[in-house]
Amino acid sequence: LNRRLAEFGTTIFAEMSALALRTGSINLGQGFPDTDGPEEVREAAVRALREGRGNQYPPGPGIPELRTAIAAHQERRYGLSYDPDTEVLVTAGATEAIAAALLALLEPGDEVIAFEPYYDSYAACIAMAGGTRVPVTLRPHVDEGGASFRLDLDELRAAVTDRTRLLLINTPHNPTGTVLTRAELAAIAELAVERDLLVVTDEVYEHLVFDDAEHLPLAGFPGMRERTVTIGSAGKSFSFTGWKVGWITAAPGLVAAARSAKQFLTYVSSGPFQYAVAEALALPDSYFTAFRADMLAKRDLLAAGLAEAGFGVFKPAGTYFITTDIRPLGERDGFAFCRALPERAGVVAIPNAVFYDHREAGAPFVRFAFCKQAEVLQEAVKRLKSLA
Ligand code: PMP
Ligand code: GLN
Repeated sequence: LNRRLAEFGTTIFAEMSALALRTGSINLGQGFPDTDGPEEVREAAVRALREGRGNQYPPGPGIPELRTAIAAHQERRYGLSYDPDTEVLVTAGATEAIAAALLALLEPGDEVIAFEPYYDSYAACIAMAGGTRVPVTLRPHVDEGGASFRLDLDELRAAVTDRTRLLLINTPHNPTGTVLTRAELAAIAELAVERDLLVVTDEVYEHLVFDDAEHLPLAGFPGMRERTVTIGSAGKSFSFTGWKVGWITAAPGLVAAARSAKQFLTYVSSGPFQYAVAEALALPDSYFTAFRADMLAKRDLLAAGLAEAGFGVFKPAGTYFITTDIRPLGERDGFAFCRALPERAGVVAIPNAVFYDHREAGAPFVRFAFCKQAEVLQEAVKRLKSLA
């Protein structure tokens, strides 16, 4: 393994899902739903397979039907118009979108600012692209709205140097569940314009925002349309994480750059699933409303259960993850806690420290996924209560 990748080892998701299987534990670690997405979307994939649509290499940028559906979704939800031919790229999940964007846009030595804790592939992709990551730490904060992780805008501004090339944003944010506010996004946009930075914004949880939170795409802020690469995922929006269909929307030059990298990463993305996702994106708003309501009920169930079990709970405004503080349980080391948890309680969770460069800042935090059936969450809570 080369020096660029040596520090990353095996992803925590693979490690913890294997641990769940080995110990027969309830897996609230890796974020994947335990019920598949809409039946009609599955049927659309079957139809495409049977009818021989997409069984051979589809077009590199993605099939026109899907690119058109992605553009229509951005227009309908956010009033953002993208040309399906030049401003949309279909990728093998959001994971490839992140990789292709970073590999295509970074020069060796360029600095990339990302919020810490960050989704694990960011650090590895920045490294593969020869860039340098500069983490800005989201800080635990308590106010009348409850406990959450917040961005310190002064810290963000201070992190920009002459070598900064790109801001890597994620809202709604995995693992903290933070949804950036209009004011925060406006400040980020202002900074990007002032310092002439590119922005890659991972918005895969765009449909999972709760209570008063609203998902606002960064590309909609002044000066951002031309400098922003926006990333979405059918895995997250339609509960088909195994299909690996994601996408980029951006200005033509940025999409062309990402396509240059994509053609040598996967060449094209899986064919029949693209036809199905094109149909999924055209589902009526009632699908998204029901999806959100279902996840909201699950969030509330698990948040209440974790609090009763003695965890400090950061109730998420978005995503399907809850970050907890284990110090009220008399614990301090999330790694040790998560490694022992299957044995102690038959539950698997993710130590947030893996998402930090400043590991000590993340040490007492542990993430639980709630994209699971109510009975599964109830059983997990019952087991976790035995810890106290
Ligand atoms: N970004 C974030 C923030 C994620 O949580 C994930 C995990 N689903 C991804 C990207 C990767 O998405 P995909 O499964 O579409 O590759
Ligand atoms: N995004 C999911 C998570 O954060 C899982 C992705 C993965 O396994 N790479 O848990």
